Amino acid sequence: MKLLLENWREFVREELEEPITTLRIFDFDETIAHTRSETRVKAPDGSTATLSDQKEFEEYMSQAAAKEGIETFDPVKDLAELGYQIDLSDFAIVKDPDEITIVTDIMRQFPLDSKTYIVTARRGESIGPILDYLEEIGIDENEVRPIATEGSSKGDVIATMIAQKIMSDGKSNVQRIEYYEDSQRNIDDVLQKVCHNDQLEAIKPQGFELLIYKVIQFEMGYKLESITC
Ligand SMILES: [Mg+2]
Repeated sequence: MKLLLENWREFVREELEEPITTLRIFDFDETIAHTRSETRVKAPDGSTATLSDQKEFEEYMSQAAAKEGIETFDPVKDLAELGYQIDLSDFAIVKDPDEITIVTDIMRQFPLDSKTYIVTARRGESIGPILDYLEEIGIDENEVRPIATEGSSKGDVIATMIAQKIMSDGKSNVQRIEYYEDSQRNIDDVLQKVCHNDQLEAIKPQGFELLIYKVIQFEMGYKLESITC
């Protein structure tokens, strides 16, 4: 009986005091590490392109999507169906990485009230190499939950995370989101889906904060620019 009562108390305490109130979400490429990954494309008209960074990748894909009349968030699959040969194999590995320490120094702190995620637009097969790389730079991979969105919207993923655990007052347990990202396109998507979302408004706890840290490369290295709703 005593044991039962203790268990019950434990349960009530858990429900009343949710220990995890912060989600820390890190992009991988050009946020945790700079890599030398290229995308090689052959279009149905025979033209070829080598896209050496994310900006070139996004520009090419959005131009090709416009040309083909595709309006999806991630046009890669649709373009492939139209005969574009898009070689993403460099993104299955972590190629010649340089650690971005302004971000990893924050990542390795692991505050007790937080959960830490890597949310990458890469494909699922990259998760193993990414976790291996974390171990290499001295970050415990067991502290990090990896999610590969395979190109789909990070804003949708984060909105879903907020809605995942609802407390007895009908509000989400997530008080605060810290999101580290270099891509303005992804940042705009997250701002739109988290800040301007009627369904989320009803479950956001009082004082809810979204803190975005945009990773910006400049001549001297990297810096973080903060953006909020
Ligand atoms: Mg990135």
